Parts: sequence; structure tokens; C-alpha cells
Amino acid sequence: MNEQTITPLTPLISPIFETHNITVYMKREELNHPYIQGNKWHKLKFNIQEALIQHKTTLLTFGGAYSNHIAATAVAAQEAGLTSIGIIRGEELSKKPEKWSHTLKEAAKNGMVFLFISRSEYRNKSTNNALKQLETRFPDAYIIPEGGSNSLAVKGFQPLMQQIEEQCPDWTHLFSAVGTGATLAGIVKYASVKSKHLNHPRIILGVPVLKQGDYLRPQIKEWIAEPHVNSWQLLTDYHCGGYAKTPDDLLQQKATFEQAFGIPLDPIYTAKMMYAFYDQLKQNKIKPGSKVILLHTGGLQGNL
Ligand SMILES: *Cc1c(COP(=O)(O)O)cnc(C)c1O
Repeated sequence: MNEQTITPLTPLISPIFETHNITVYMKREELNHPYIQGNKWHKLKFNIQEALIQHKTTLLTFGGAYSNHIAATAVAAQEAGLTSIGIIRGEELSKKPEKWSHTLKEAAKNGMVFLFISRSEYRNKSTNNALKQLETRFPDAYIIPEGGSNSLAVKGFQPLMQQIEEQCPDWTHLFSAVGTGATLAGIVKYASVKSKHLNHPRIILGVPVLKQGDYLRPQIKEWIAEPHVNSWQLLTDYHCGGYAKTPDDLLQQKATFEQAFGIPLDPIYTAKMMYAFYDQLKQNKIKPGSKVILLHTGGLQGNL
């Protein structure tokens, strides 16, 4: 993979932010790579390094038909000179390539080979038994979990947090969308801890895009695996009905944001993060003087 890009930290100027006397930036990780976009680049980086160390020739991973991780893995494998296999939820797609999403068509163009499995099989994909079977069937494959989420993915956020620290050493809030929570864990683990005695101690806010996001907490804690980290919260009320549910008011606010700032969002992740931020602001949860970073985690391929 390419070296890490230094992406802009774009100030967002708006009368609402002035009224609240806060400064808001968007960290533009959607610009880090045209195809291995946003957080997926960081999650794959050390996994690919590890696959090469283990002399594997294939990346094997899992996802749904619209998965940003599937799109990113196909390109990342190709760039690294590896082949790729995608285990895709939905066996009905196997004989109907004309029904494939843009994501699947692009991944196929980038060399990914698919194995379509039923929803029930997909649910059991990470059991020891299922993984053993895959290892036997594909001995040259390095297996990456769904969403690319494992401890090597978490480690990938260390350089990104360093970059943010250099661009804005006195940030107070950071918002990120949450799917599996690996990205949030990486942010929390590698954001440098600022003293609680400051007026504005740091807080990291994760916005789960799935219902009942509290179930993610134990796994996130395990990934963080550090006792002294900045405080973090999951804001679990902004899933807007659940994964990939995009009610009209969400899409409207997304369009308003895109028009005001000229920065495209995706409806599944970054739009919900932005929605949560505006609602927290409306509820006066963000104190005057705060410096807020909204992390753009990418996902724009899903818009096509
Ligand atoms: C995958 C993805 C996420 C979720 O990342 P996790 O590490 O699984 O929490 C957030 N934003 C975008 C745009 C994504 O594609």
C-alpha cells in the first residue's frame, strides 16, 4: 500500500457554530485514497503487511453486497500483488451477476472472486468450525474478519491520530461513525491523553449506525486494551432506524450539509455521525470554546 496521505483538516464555517462559540473541523480521510478509502485504508494496512510476512498469496474476507470493506479489500489486494476472495452474504446473487451492486461489480473488476453464502451460513461465518473449513479449503489465504476489524486494524489508527495531533493539538471532541467499533477503538487508544485539569478534557464520541449499539462496548474495550485513555461514549440514539436505514430527514440534513460545505457524505455512516453532532450541539452538550473534529471515514463508493 501507498504511504499514508496527509489529508486536510478543513475548518467548517457556519453561523450556528459561531453562535455556540465552537470551532469545527472535518478530517478529510475520504481523500486518503481513491479506492481504499477512509478508515478502511488504515484497517487494511497492517493486515496486508502481516499477510505478506506470512507469505500468503490471497486475502479472504467477508461482507454484504454494499460493503465498503469488500470494495477496499479488492483494490488493496491488487495493489499488494495478492488475489482476493470475498465471502458475500446472499446466495441468490450467485447466478445473477446482473443483480450485483456497483460495489460487487467493481470488486470483481479488481480481481475479487466471490463465494456467495446463505444468510444463516453467513451468521456462522466466524465460528471456529467455519474458519477451520475455510483455512483447509484456502490454505494460502490470509483471513480478515468482516469489516476488516481486528487488533491489527486498530493499530492502523496510530499514525492517523498522530497526524490529527499535529494538525490540531488542542482539539476537545472527536466524532466518528461506528460499525464494528474497531475504528473508534483505534482513535481512543492512540489519541494522546490531555490532562483532566484542563478546562476542556477530551471526549471521543462514537455514533453506532446499527440499533442497540451498546453491545459493541465489551469488544471496543478489549481492542483499546489500555487503562489510561481519553473518555469515550457511544451515542446510541442516532442509528435512524438501523443499519442502512436512511429516513428522509437524515437525507435532507445530509444534502444541506453537502451544499453548505461542499463535502460529500455517505448515507450509511458519515451522514449519521454528522446528524449526531448537530443534535448534540442543539442539546447544548458541546461547551463554548470546544474544538470539534468530525472524522470523515469515507464510504463514498457506496453512493454509486
Ligand atoms: C466501515 C465504515 C465505518 C465503520 O468502521 P468500524 O471500524 O467497523 O466501526 C465507518 N465509516 C465508514 C465510511 C465505513 O465504511
